[in-house]
Amino acid sequence: MKPEKDILPVISDKQISVGSDQRNLFCPECGCINTHVEAPYLKVGESWHGNGEVAITPLWSECGSKWEVCIGFHKGDAPIFVRINESCKSK
Ligand SMILES: [Zn+2]
Repeated sequence: MKPEKDILPVISDKQISVGSDQRNLFCPECGCINTHVEAPYLKVGESWHGNGEVAITPLWSECGSKWEVCIGFHKGDAPIFVRINESCKSK
């Protein structure tokens, strides 16, 4: 099972602009602000710290990290977390 990390540190403290309710996602390893999103998918039978399916959105940061935002769901719980597939710090 891949390590699961807290989502909060990768979300910007401030909204993108005044009047916007959007926040940015940063590299979970170094805080790089330039991140790109790939096509999300749903995984059944994935090994994670919970039961049930997990929705995965892959991302990559310009520092070199490849990571994903995951939302699991099971019996009314929808935990959100981050997994790192490739760290910019190992380059
Ligand atoms: Zn990074």
